[in-house]
This record gives sequence, structure tokens and C-alpha cells, in this order.
Amino acid sequence: MTAGVYDCLIVGGGPAGLSGALMLGRCRRSVLVCSTGEPRNARSAGLHGYLTRDGIDPTGFLGLARDEVQRYPSVEFLQAEVVDARRTSTGFAITCAGGLQFTTRKLLLATGVVDEIPDIDGLMELYGKSVHHCPYCDGWEWRDQPLAVYGRGEAGSALALALTVWSDDVVLCTGGTSGLSEKEEEGLANAGIEVREEPVERLEGQDGLLERVVFSEGEALKRKALFFCSGQHQRSPLAEKLGARFNEKGAVDTGTCEATNVPGLYVAGDASKQAQFVIVAAAEGSEAGMAINTALLKDDLAQKRNSTPKRSKRGGPYAKSG
Ligand SMILES: Cc1cc2nc3c(=O)[nH]c(=O)nc-3n(C[C@H](O)[C@H](O)[C@H](O)COP(=O)(O)OP(=O)(O)OC[C@H]3O[C@@H](n4cnc5c(N)ncnc54)[C@H](O)[C@@H]3O)c2cc1C
Repeated sequence: MTAGVYDCLIVGGGPAGLSGALMLGRCRRSVLVCSTGEPRNARSAGLHGYLTRDGIDPTGFLGLARDEVQRYPSVEFLQAEVVDARRTSTGFAITCAGGLQFTTRKLLLATGVVDEIPDIDGLMELYGKSVHHCPYCDGWEWRDQPLAVYGRGEAGSALALALTVWSDDVVLCTGGTSGLSEKEEEGLANAGIEVREEPVERLEGQDGLLERVVFSEGEALKRKALFFCSGQHQRSPLAEKLGARFNEKGAVDTGTCEATNVPGLYVAGDASKQAQFVIVAAAEGSEAGMAINTALLKDDLAQKRNSTPKRSKRGGPYAKSG
């Protein structure tokens, strides 16, 4: 590790952070990527919708990405959790778990989010293989199959309706009182979606493949896959600690090229925007890398200007002699 000041420290080595590192490495910037290596999609059996890599194993994808970034000698990696960040007059002071400290001119947070997964017996064994939350990521694989949706109210209704793009056999399981408005009930009935309100006791299946949804009463429901509505929260408190502004959905409110309201702080990937896909996270990391390089260049040029002796009208080192 360098003892000096990094041009940019990146927290998070997922698609957003690695893409930012690639761009900054190509700009010959000194970069340190600190990551605990817990990608959001670690449980997923296949990464879908990434042009040229559709269906790749997510861990393999990150391996390819790291190999590419490692070709750039000014980029360093550290497997560590960043536990603190504070602003200084020249950038940021960073502390990792265990006490390692670094200073950096710019800071890119690509720390992602954590999904809040329903506490249903048997769900985790199937999660990522036949239990999912994003139809765009995994709907195609279950086209024309009997599907269940787990969710209540407006969110449950919206997810069930969305899934009719992939299957016309969708049952909404609300796990208790449905919380549906009359209009939502009508919309679901219209789309041929049955609603089951009994509490869900467990999910049963084998080798990661769902077979049935078992309720606390009534007949079990045979299904091939289940999609659930989930909440989420920021994986890291660093953006909040540094005073970044958040939007009403809990994402960091970034403007042009992932810049935040905090000077020198950029946030890319799931932590900032609402369209949460790997290809979008990578694009945001790239944008942030470009913006960070531009900001560093501007700072460097300003510093050069200030340290160059000024021309004097009455003479001095640059005065014309005649
Ligand atoms: C089950 C599942 C399936 C999915 N399937 C798809 C799919 O098929 N296609 C698709 O496009 N998208 C999919 N997604 C969404 C996709 O995973 C995310 O959009 C993407 O991972 C976002 O990338 P990111 O770099 O923003 O965050 P992440 O991939 O979550 O990476 C964040 C990184 O930051 C690290 N980190 C966090 N805090 C700290 C800290 N304080 N110090 C050090 N390191 C830290 C984490 O360990 C992690 O390595 C899926 C998500 C899930 C949950």
C-alpha cells in the first residue's frame, strides 16, 4: 500500500466500484479499492441481462472484472471493511477495520444495498435458484410456468401483474390480510390472478427448485418459482455519515455523473440509483470515474496556476525588457 495520498479511494469492489477503478486506472490515477467482497447477487445462480455476459455465474463475472482492472499498475486492492470516513481540508481520511488508515483526494462509494428477505421457512435454500425478487433478472427462466408472488398491498399487486409478461399462471400469496384496495383486487381478477391470504408456513422443494407453497391452513400450492417483494437498505452508513443527501426511496441523491452534494464524494451503483442492474452499476461506476478524473485534473491545473509566479505589470521575472 502506498503511504501517500491516493487520487481516489473506492469503497466496494462490485460492478460499480470495479468499473470506476478501470476508468481511473486508464487515466493513470492512483486508486485503492477496499472491499469486503460481499456482492448483493452472491446467491444468484446466473447473472442475466448483461450484454455479452447473459447468464454468467456472478462470481465468475467479478473474477473477469478484477483480472481486467489488475492490468492497470496504479490500481491497488485491499480486502477490508471501511468503517469510517471523514472530510479533511484536502479530501478524505479513511479508516479500515483493524485500524489501517488512508488519505485520498476523492472518494467513490460503491457499497451497494442489502435486501430484506421475508422470514419464511425454506426460502433461503431456494433463494437465487427458484425464489427471486426481480422479474427482469429472472423472469425469462420461468416463462410459461406456474408462479407465486409473495407480497402485500400495492407492491404485491404490482409484482404479480408484472409477472403476467412471463406467465399467465400467477398466484399472489399475501401471507395474511392482503392490504389490497378494491381497485387492485379488480385489476388482479381482471388479469386472472388468484389471491391467497392464508399465512405462508414454508416453501418446499429440492435441489434449489421450488415444488410447493405450504400455508398454515388450506391446500398447498404447487409452483415452480416464487418472486417476492422486498425492502432494502444501504449496506454501508458511510454516505450518511459524510452528510450525503438521500432521496425518498433511501438511495443517495446523485446528480451529474454520480457526484453528491458533498464536495469530492461520488456514489455509484445500487447505493445511488433506482434501476438496480449490474450493467447500470457498471455504467455508473464508469461515469463516476470520468467525473473524478476531470475534477482531479481541474484541481491539479488550479494548483499549478497558483504556484506559478504571476506576471507583474511593473516588471518582475516575466517582464518584457524593451
Ligand atoms: C439474488 C439477486 C439476483 C440478481 N440478479 C441480477 C441479474 O440477473 N442481473 C442484473 O443485472 N442484476 C441482478 N441483481 C442486481 C445486482 O446484484 C446489483 O444491481 C449489482 O450487484 C449492483 O452492483 P454494486 O457494485 O452497486 O453493488 P454490489 O454488487 O452489492 O457490491 C458492493 C460491494 O461493496 C462492498 N462493501 C459494502 N460496504 C463496504 C464497506 N464499508 N467496506 C468495504 N467494502 C464494502 C460489498 O462487500 C460488495 O463487494 C441481482 C440481485 C440479487 C440480490
